[in-house]
Amino acid sequence: MDDQQVGPEKGETYTCAMCDRTYIAGWTKEECLAEADAVFGDGECWDEGSDVVCDDCYQILTTQLRDEREVLIDLAQHGVPELD
Ligand SMILES: [Zn+2]
Repeated sequence: MDDQQVGPEKGETYTCAMCDRTYIAGWTKEECLAEADAVFGDGECWDEGSDVVCDDCYQILTTQLRDEREVLIDLAQHGVPELD
């Protein structure tokens, strides 16, 4: 496995895939992968080709994911509202 693609190592620079700014990585690959596992579950959304995003965009992403998850749970519990 070529782990060059997983993400930047701590101290390396990377470009955020969302805002296109360049940052210095504050986390090791292992820390990033552990966090991704915790947030995204079984790693379905996280593989070697995943884009790297900065902390600010990451917060936006995880907030969106949580919101979408809540909508899906609501739909599962109450069904799809009928449209007139
Ligand atoms: Zn960003």
